[in-house]
Amino acid sequence: MLTWNLPNDPCQIPLGKMKTAKTIYDSMAGTIPSSLLDYTQMQTATMNRIEFAVYHYQVLNVAYGFATVTTYTQQDSVARAEMNAIILNLMGAFDCISHEINTILNLQINEREVMFGHNHKQGMSNCIICRISTTDPQLSTLMELVITSDWFKELKEYRNHIHKRLPVIQVSMVAGGSFRKVTLPDDPSNYNPQSPDFSKKLELQAYCRDRIDNVMVTIEELYQKLHPQITQYVTTRRTASP
Ligand SMILES: [Zn+2]
Repeated sequence: MLTWNLPNDPCQIPLGKMKTAKTIYDSMAGTIPSSLLDYTQMQTATMNRIEFAVYHYQVLNVAYGFATVTTYTQQDSVARAEMNAIILNLMGAFDCISHEINTILNLQINEREVMFGHNHKQGMSNCIICRISTTDPQLSTLMELVITSDWFKELKEYRNHIHKRLPVIQVSMVAGGSFRKVTLPDDPSNYNPQSPDFSKKLELQAYCRDRIDNVMVTIEELYQKLHPQITQYVTTRRTASP
């Protein structure tokens, strides 16, 4: 049985690149009036999603350190488990911030129907992007840019497949080295990938690190855009019910 140390508290991971997000989070410290509780929990959830992704990335790094033949099977299982947790948490951050936008901008979309993907023609009432396209075109454009970016489309594709079947990873020894490479298939819907189907060389550790970076930067940008509206929302509720 292999014993290994887990990384730190997953809810206390510093997110250095997310200064505005942290400022917003800190602004809700102290006594929370009941009218602000809902929003506070949503914003914490968005932050937690990213913290959890980083936490699982740290676990993934620990697994990359398993370098004996007896621990290889465990390494593969841990890599697989962590990949799934990282991808689901990163995409989850967008679901969480969508709930924040719904609340802050008072869009009144039913909580169970809030949507971020916008994978449809214009005019869907439960889609955040459609709903703000006329009232807040700047924010809507920013979100359009996110969802049409290659990295987002790819990440979403992996997430969608995780809901059905897990992507088949390829594990190979690094020639002359003592560690193994874990690679994602180019096409997540390919359930019988052969060697040429890993040509994009989506090495798991690097892939997860880069996607965490993308999501941190993007969520921070969304918070920068939303900051004045959030401040107004929070201040109003604090003043109304101290
Ligand atoms: Zn839409």
